[in-house]
Amino acid sequence: MNNIFSNTKEAFSLKSNFELNRAYFLFKIIGNQSVVKLMTSLTNFSLKFNLPVTPIIKATVFDHFCGGVTQEDCISVIEKLYKKNVCSVLDFSTEGFINEIEFDNCLNKKLSIIDFIKNKNEVPFAVFKPTCLGSTDLFIKMSSGLPLTDSENDSWSRVVDRFEKVCEKAFSENVKILIDAEEVDVQKAIDDLAIVMMRKFNKSNPIVFNTVQLYRKDRLKYMRELLKNKKNKDIQFGLKLVRGAYMEKERKIAMNKGIESPICDSKNETDNNFNRGVDFVFDNLNRISFVCASHNEDSILKVMDIMKKRKIKHNDQRVWFGQLFGMSDNISFNLGQKKYNTFKILPFGSVKNLMPYLIRRAQENTSVQGQTGRELQLILNEKKRRKKANLSF
Ligand SMILES: Cc1cc2nc3c(=O)[nH]c(=O)nc-3n(C[C@H](O)[C@H](O)[C@H](O)COP(=O)(O)OP(=O)(O)OC[C@H]3O[C@@H](n4cnc5c(N)ncnc54)[C@H](O)[C@@H]3O)c2cc1C
Repeated sequence: MNNIFSNTKEAFSLKSNFELNRAYFLFKIIGNQSVVKLMTSLTNFSLKFNLPVTPIIKATVFDHFCGGVTQEDCISVIEKLYKKNVCSVLDFSTEGFINEIEFDNCLNKKLSIIDFIKNKNEVPFAVFKPTCLGSTDLFIKMSSGLPLTDSENDSWSRVVDRFEKVCEKAFSENVKILIDAEEVDVQKAIDDLAIVMMRKFNKSNPIVFNTVQLYRKDRLKYMRELLKNKKNKDIQFGLKLVRGAYMEKERKIAMNKGIESPICDSKNETDNNFNRGVDFVFDNLNRISFVCASHNEDSILKVMDIMKKRKIKHNDQRVWFGQLFGMSDNISFNLGQKKYNTFKILPFGSVKNLMPYLIRRAQENTSVQGQTGRELQLILNEKKRRKKANLSF
């Protein structure tokens, strides 16, 4: 399809020929499921036994998908992106935290990131994954509605306290904060906390953003109820709309429990749900600010089309677009060029801590029909364009 996202000159304007070739090589490799499986096992084995693979990972897949090891490392990337009118959201790797000390460390890290980005227009949001602030089992139990033991109650108050500290800090520094969505069995507790935070901090400005996964069959109802609830009448809602990242896992859990899957039965159904979610947001834009977090060109085009029809300015602060660093540059940079509010999620942390993130990126890209096919075609188009124009970068 030929649309604004076919402009590869803009999409890859920050990539040297070397980086473009590296991206081609990477997507070519991760398009092959067997190679990804083999590389994943080899990498995990090497990291476990401290074999010296970190420099190789760092120079290839890490540098393509991550901003750096420290937040300071990310500054040069942030600046480069911002010159193209694309903002960044620093996402410190927090996978696999399991004890109270780690949860507290994570809280401190999140607070220090807010300090680092305050007053930086180029980093308008902070982000956190709720289960980095408390144990997953506790989120599951809270979500199930079962009564907590005394010690679980104590742990839960610490989770609430950590949530509140992050949101309060974001509020006091005027930084918007994205709360990631996770699996269905922990999400009810996350949603309940998110709304408590919005009631506190989203009175005049949308500071706290909860994430709505529209691959779930029940999320349109969830959004309608949020707005209908009288207790929420003073809230300026912040919502990040995504399709959802845990489809296979959710289906397996539902099958094992012998219950209906909470996830739409087909991609088409998810797409329709996402579209209806977008329509709902625009019909209530007086009360909702939102992020369209997607790599799907049709979804982005739909949002742009509605904005045009409703005469909403490209840089209206109620509408943001978000993509992951290293993916769909054709969307982000072309949106940035047209002055839409756009950001890249920029993960950072040690190579070892970011491995699960990198493996997920590789696994979700293994379909050549899907994202990888699109990325490869765009890179090829740009390589051809540069060759024709005899350009060296
Ligand atoms: C900035 C950003 C933030 C994100 N934050 C979160 C988050 O907090 N929580 C989270 O869960 N995800 C998050 N994601 C990931 C997101 O949910 C999607 O997994 C990912 O973006 C791919 O969907 P897409 O809209 O880009 O487009 P597409 O590539 O068009 O859609 C792929 C998605 O469609 C759905 N799908 C695919 N096949 C089927 C099928 N057979 N039946 C039903 N549905 C199907 C799945 O959700 C799949 O991920 C985020 C993504 C971005 C870009």
